[in-house]
Amino acid sequence: MPAREQFDLVVIGAGSGGLAAAQRAAEYGARVAVAEYGPLGGTCVNVGCVPKKVMWYAAETAATLEAAAGYGFQVAVEAHDWAGLKARRDAYIRRLNGIYAGNLEKKGITLLHGRAALAGPGRVSVDDRELEASHIIIATGGRPAVPEIDGAELGITSDDFFALETRPQRVLIVGSGYVAVELGGVFNALGSEVTIATRRDGVLRDFDPALREALMDQMQRDGVTVETHAVPVAASRRDNGIELLTVDGQRFGGFDLLLWAVGRVPNTEGLGLDAAGVRTDEDGFIPVDEWQDTNVKGIHAIGDVTGRVALTPVAIAAGRRLADRLFGGMPERKLDYDCVPTVIFSHPPIGTVGLTEPEAHARYGDQVGVYESRFTPMLYAMNERKVPAVVKLVTVGADERIVGCHVIGAGADEMLQGFAVALRMGATKRDFDDTVAIHPTAAEELVTLRGRRP
Ligand SMILES: Cc1cc2nc3c(=O)[nH]c(=O)nc-3n(C[C@H](O)[C@H](O)[C@H](O)COP(=O)(O)OP(=O)(O)OC[C@H]3O[C@@H](n4cnc5c(N)ncnc54)[C@H](O)[C@@H]3O)c2cc1C
Repeated sequence: MPAREQFDLVVIGAGSGGLAAAQRAAEYGARVAVAEYGPLGGTCVNVGCVPKKVMWYAAETAATLEAAAGYGFQVAVEAHDWAGLKARRDAYIRRLNGIYAGNLEKKGITLLHGRAALAGPGRVSVDDRELEASHIIIATGGRPAVPEIDGAELGITSDDFFALETRPQRVLIVGSGYVAVELGGVFNALGSEVTIATRRDGVLRDFDPALREALMDQMQRDGVTVETHAVPVAASRRDNGIELLTVDGQRFGGFDLLLWAVGRVPNTEGLGLDAAGVRTDEDGFIPVDEWQDTNVKGIHAIGDVTGRVALTPVAIAAGRRLADRLFGGMPERKLDYDCVPTVIFSHPPIGTVGLTEPEAHARYGDQVGVYESRFTPMLYAMNERKVPAVVKLVTVGADERIVGCHVIGAGADEMLQGFAVALRMGATKRDFDDTVAIHPTAAEELVTLRGRRP
């Protein structure tokens, strides 16, 4: 049996979280190995944020071309070359994969291509290699869920979306989360007929009602059909295309493509968790405490596999802070999961941070104040097509500390980061009011809001 290779840290999974933790630990001088069976960068770079954002830009460009006439341009759009865009997008991602490999090499991190598993506390196997380390980080992420119903194999997932060489014309997306909304928006903007089937009363259930209503309204005005209370029980192929049967006997048919966007499952099978005694919850996620520690000493988990706030910057922040604590001499360093801002790349985009109005009421009762404005951004002044925006602040207490900031509208994606800093610092409504507006922008609405005090 070959000798076990010794490291200070072994990271399983080279996605957002794993790469961040490995590099930060190496910067502190730790001997680090990373195991990965897929392309470097994980979900975000290969089948998530990055290619998705490229497609969102394509969709936004379609809208800009449509609006061009209002601004005096005579533009004739002849066609959209989906395959050409995909080829350029793939090449961009390959460049990113290469940059990640270069970064690991520069930092002296050992990269092992293969499937890793825990072989016991402090031990990891990667194919036929055995590694030993005082710390192991599980950063194996997740993959799209597919419902266990007849005909499920007729549908594709978000991973497969990024492999499509052509744009399907009639698309059914099952799901109500941001993946359903974002991919549906891309298809629709580039010319497909899109239906989104949701189990309950619409999309983005956990978001502030003002955002949900504005988005569903706009999606419908843009031609997306949203079917509510549609719980799928089977999919089948008919002469005119794919058909979905729901629990109450409704049939939605005639689709060229069915896409499941029904959540994600953690990559924990075959990971040797039992061998090391690492516990999972009923859905397979690895629970961690506030320090990203699992129930086994020296084994930590970060990112999507923990089942908490599945976003790239969260995985990165958790990984870096964990490395700071383990190798950087910062024993108190950990990630605060409160007040994580996020953007939905819908049309128009959504930016949101903090509590929704219902969440604030549930937590603070009649201490809650709400300030909201609906308006049409000046961007649309020259055009027939108007896409309204909504900005909303949720405050708490007599000093009106802002606990929620929600925006839907053109530019919301780039607007929220700065406001998230303000919320983290404990900004009050008065601080917002005292901030001089930037004119003419949509963002200025957030510092000029009138509304309901608690
Ligand atoms: C369509 C889509 C769009 C998204 N858009 C956004 C967005 O706009 N913004 C945002 O913040 N987040 C977005 N996300 C979420 C984001 O991609 C994830 O939160 C993030 O990638 C999680 O990082 P991670 O390190 O936990 O896992 P991952 O990035 O999934 O990395 C896990 C890695 O572990 C590897 N692995 C698994 N098991 C093993 C094993 N046994 N041995 C070796 N390697 C293994 C996998 O191959 C993978 O590379 C999106 C996700 C999807 C699906």
